[in-house]
Amino acid sequence: MRVTQPFGLAQGREPVERQMGVFRQPQKIMTRFVVFTDLDGTLLDHHTYAYVDALPALSKLRQTQTPLIMVSSKTRREIEALRSELENDHPFIPENGGAIFVPKGYDLPLPDEAVEAGDYHVLVLGRRNEELAAAFDRLARVVAVRALSRLSSEEVADLTGLTMAQAEAAREREFGEAFIVDDPEIKESVLRNEVHKLGLRLTQGGRFWHLLGENDKGRAVTLLSRLFRQRHPDIVTAACGDAPNDEPMLAAVDRPFLVARPEGGHRPIDIPRLAKTDLPGPAGFSQAVLSLWD
Ligand SMILES: [Mg+2]
Repeated sequence: MRVTQPFGLAQGREPVERQMGVFRQPQKIMTRFVVFTDLDGTLLDHHTYAYVDALPALSKLRQTQTPLIMVSSKTRREIEALRSELENDHPFIPENGGAIFVPKGYDLPLPDEAVEAGDYHVLVLGRRNEELAAAFDRLARVVAVRALSRLSSEEVADLTGLTMAQAEAAREREFGEAFIVDDPEIKESVLRNEVHKLGLRLTQGGRFWHLLGENDKGRAVTLLSRLFRQRHPDIVTAACGDAPNDEPMLAAVDRPFLVARPEGGHRPIDIPRLAKTDLPGPAGFSQAVLSLWD
């Protein structure tokens, strides 16, 4: 088949846009990085949930059309609120990799297992909450634990400093159970062992423990990175996180960044190529993201 010259591209003559160095192909965004980020204690301040210190990095990501993918132990509703505030229309990963939500119309190939739900195509990786409820009851019989979904919104707001509306959204869990341990004496190994006996997994976020199926942030990030690479084979993946539940995500990307804790120092995470920020929370996130272009 003969390839026809694009309209206006006469032989031997460059279009004015190309001469000016601003010629753009109308098709795909030529993204260089995909950035995955944890929310609490990373993009958001651990105590105030503010992201003002992240604005320099957020504007760089916007300018360069770099996808920013939120990967959190937060629920879908909590992430949706932040996405709309930040005008972020990229896929996202709620509840420790429990699922991948890809907005309809987003330019990514989707595996056959993706199901349609509202405005999204959803890839479910974890176990649905209904399946986990009975297991949580068994755990609560041997260890003093309380599930976030069963606390009142007032109690959640008190524990977290969230507003009532945010606390409401935090209780709407679909792919795992977040909980607090009331026994300060209990050893992590005992808790882990009890969860293991249930055939489930345990991970720790900034404030809560999480009872989960076979999902973690790393598995979800690996899968979503693969979909991005089918569209953009040369992308470099980066991730920012601050807590133990971020370790699998950090291990799954090319450029992992561990953000400092608000009290200083870092959680003990040791994986290859890990860069550590000096600054905590959103300021550390900004430092990490901007360093990608250094
Ligand atoms: Mg965190």
